[in-house]
Amino acid sequence: NLDIRVDIPSNDEIGSLGKAINDLAIEINRYRSNRSEFFANVSHELRTPITYMKGYAQVLKQNLYQTEEERLHYLTIIESETERMVGLINDLFDLSKMEEGKFDLHMTTLHLTDVLESAFFKVKMEFEQKGILLNSYFEENVPAIEADGDRLEQIFINLLGNAARYTERGAVNVQVWHEDNQVNVVIEDTGIGIPEEELSFVFDRFHRVEKSRSRELGGTGLGLAIVKHLVDLQNGSISVSSQVGKGTRFQLSFPQAE
Ligand code: ADP
Repeated sequence: NLDIRVDIPSNDEIGSLGKAINDLAIEINRYRSNRSEFFANVSHELRTPITYMKGYAQVLKQNLYQTEEERLHYLTIIESETERMVGLINDLFDLSKMEEGKFDLHMTTLHLTDVLESAFFKVKMEFEQKGILLNSYFEENVPAIEADGDRLEQIFINLLGNAARYTERGAVNVQVWHEDNQVNVVIEDTGIGIPEEELSFVFDRFHRVEKSRSRELGGTGLGLAIVKHLVDLQNGSISVSSQVGKGTRFQLSFPQAE
């Protein structure tokens, strides 16, 4: 820790200067510990798939398997861990550009419901495989918004993917309506929910409510951090509410196009 705290000698300008220095020291220390925590997380997330890949490659190399089925199983693990690593690296790359303010968007005037339909099509399989219903309730004649179609779709795919991932049975309901020059979307599931004390952290990178479960289900812990950046970059807002055992609700709002 950077130890530059100073005593505050008086209540005048010198005192204010001392206070400013102390605030700065707190800020610098927070930044430093965030940064080292971030690197520790990245190393951990990269080490895990590599450990699997290395282990199973050795098993295959030394012919330590009995059946052809077993051999294919190990190859499948190596393949999926490689995919996870590529995904993680792509996410990290995007996130670092976003945090530096260097992430480019291609804004156009579009209808959010069209983007949602296209996202539905892409996540359909996941829902069908788990037997979860995907219902949509779109208001008619919802105004257009200014957004980057691909990035908006990425947001929806991510939120819908999470909704499917953290739901065992029931349905995911998607609602779209407009009000006060805003176009609103709600994505609500009947899943495991998020404890109250965790809610304010879900948009932090690498924050997971239950680490092992999220990993088993294929998560990296970066999805919602990226979603939050993408929403902000498109002048929108996002909020979350949840009840453990009942479900989770994400609400997004975007200003309607002029
Ligand atoms: P992950 O890749 O782990 O899913 P995210 O950034 O997408 O990471 O989400 C962060 C954490 O928030 C998840 O690990 C999970 O614990 C929780 N979470 C996100 N969406 C939901 C949801 N719809 N229902 C319950 N928990 C959720």
